[in-house]
Amino acid sequence: MSQTAPSPSETLGFQAEVKQLLHLMIHSLYSNKEIFLRELVSNASDACDKLRFEAIDHPELLAGDSELGIRVSYDKAARTLTLSDNGIGLSRDEAIANLGTIARSGTREFFSQLTGDKQKDAQLIGQFGVGFYSSFIVADRVTVVSRRAGAEGAIRWESDGQGEFTIGEAERAGRGTDVTLHLRAEEDELLNGWKLREILRRYSDHISLPIRMAKEEWDAEKNEQVKKDEWEAVNQASALWTRAKSDITDEQYREFYKTISHDFDDPLTWTHNRVEGRSEYTQLLYLPKHAPFDLWDRDARRGVKLYVKRVFIMDDAEQLLPSYLRFVRGVIDSADLPLNVSREILQESRDVRAIREGSAKRILSLLEELAENKKDDYAAFWTEFGQVLKEGAGEDPANRERLAKLLRFASTHTGDAAQTVSLADYLSRAKEGQDKIYYVTADSHSAAGSSPHLEIFRKKGIEVLLLSDRVDEWMLSYLREFEGKSLVSVAKGGLDLADLADEEEKKRQTEVAEEFKPLVERLQQALKDQVKEVRVTLRLVDSPACVVVGQNELSPHLLRMLKAAGQDAPDVKPVLEINPEHALIGRIGQAADEEFGDWARLLLDQAMLAEGAQIADPAAFVKRMNALLLKA
Ligand code: ADP
Ligand code: MG
Repeated sequence: MSQTAPSPSETLGFQAEVKQLLHLMIHSLYSNKEIFLRELVSNASDACDKLRFEAIDHPELLAGDSELGIRVSYDKAARTLTLSDNGIGLSRDEAIANLGTIARSGTREFFSQLTGDKQKDAQLIGQFGVGFYSSFIVADRVTVVSRRAGAEGAIRWESDGQGEFTIGEAERAGRGTDVTLHLRAEEDELLNGWKLREILRRYSDHISLPIRMAKEEWDAEKNEQVKKDEWEAVNQASALWTRAKSDITDEQYREFYKTISHDFDDPLTWTHNRVEGRSEYTQLLYLPKHAPFDLWDRDARRGVKLYVKRVFIMDDAEQLLPSYLRFVRGVIDSADLPLNVSREILQESRDVRAIREGSAKRILSLLEELAENKKDDYAAFWTEFGQVLKEGAGEDPANRERLAKLLRFASTHTGDAAQTVSLADYLSRAKEGQDKIYYVTADSHSAAGSSPHLEIFRKKGIEVLLLSDRVDEWMLSYLREFEGKSLVSVAKGGLDLADLADEEEKKRQTEVAEEFKPLVERLQQALKDQVKEVRVTLRLVDSPACVVVGQNELSPHLLRMLKAAGQDAPDVKPVLEINPEHALIGRIGQAADEEFGDWARLLLDQAMLAEGAQIADPAAFVKRMNALLLKA
């Protein structure tokens, strides 16, 4: 047998982020201080879930103590509050790692978002999830005594939350964890059985394990409540999602959400169903009000917990919902999956596929209901998560139609940047004979709104969708049509404006094409290395020229995004379209040969700039412009 080296008591420092979190939390979360109890109960419950899961393969871990539960007690004289569980426990290394650091992706980014503004930070910290460290809101010292299931000895962890903790050996009769809070002087009211029961019921009623407290009786002689040697459950101790909907209050649904999501805020809405049929499962899924700080972090934890027949299996089960619904939080409890299911099995399981499809459909129904009946809530949802939902257009072809109806856009009709226009709204305003849905993409909303390509549409009163989210181009490559009407970029050549032009305009078009032929040829010659073609257009009103690309070519905006992402992007030469009505075009037509080249380049470069594109040689552009300005 190997000699186990004694591990003496050591003092270690918290990870820098923990120190920062502790400091901020105590100040900004004080008004929510009771949540510490919810966090500790949730950890104790997680610890029991983990034990039950490990015991599937190692039943001996449960031996002698198979009834899992949580006990809450307080000691008035010592001014302490203790939460005990007989869950998985912590080894020395686990205690150091889990109670001294924050092992979450995006932690650094999260801290860089904190502003020092109490309220904003409280909101952010709430979303981040403070967990165990919230004990320090009410305690000036916290002691954890824990014995890992299957291990011999126990450990003792202690800290005053000032930057260091000590860890050493301890005694504990069986496996599990005791978290003892040494309460701050002003937290006397927590040393009261009524008060504690009230908080526990409010925050933790839905926990599936019994939370027990010692029975108390009034002792008239002593004139105080006296604890008896008898433990009673203070919560219902049945997993919330297994109860009948009619037995659950909205308040209970909300508290359950807060426990599983670590969000301080209420959820926007939820859906709770028992699904029967080929695959049997219960789903309780929530839409949060706010996007988590790590919504765009690919490694971020997902929000759905998987249970099998009420046994917790795993957090963050990304197979249960498509990625474009990664903001959903909740629980799925399957009746069919084996208890020893692994992530690999999840990937291939037909039951899981059925769950994923069923759950995605449920969420879409929930969103449809919101969009229909609670427009403000839907708008709030869209602002937070619209960009993620757009990913669904590519990711989930089976639901593309339903998703398309849920999309919202900014448009020339509303005149602001808010994305509120649905494709159905758009079509309801379409002009007679208009069989297309027009859009423009750009790097920003203001660039989209001032695109020269919009001029003819403005003149004719035709609405154009203004798209400027990063995901838009990608979405559009999948979303080609809606209700039989194709989506068409106004910035592409071959834009068939014929339908929108009246007879007179058509006639005019042929005339100007003839009239400007010499100028077009001259420009073409001067710009032959830069453009594919030059032609006359009637799509412009205020601008002298614009650049367009072929209908099947990548848009300049998309090319820029690809290049910015370091990807190979083909060099596409644009078509330069000129506005025959514009004075500048008239002026260029009269330019002498020696300055014509400069005029031509200037025309192209400013058309590129208006498009939001980079011009090849900005310094040369400025020089040319100044030279021509001086001459003017
Ligand atoms: P989270 O619960 O989100 O992981 P917490 O800060 O609440 O974050 O807890 C940090 C970690 O400490 C937990 O993940 C767990 O590993 C460990 N832990 C906390 N409380 C207990 C407990 N009662 N029993 C076992 N482990 C615990
Ligand atoms: Mg926790």
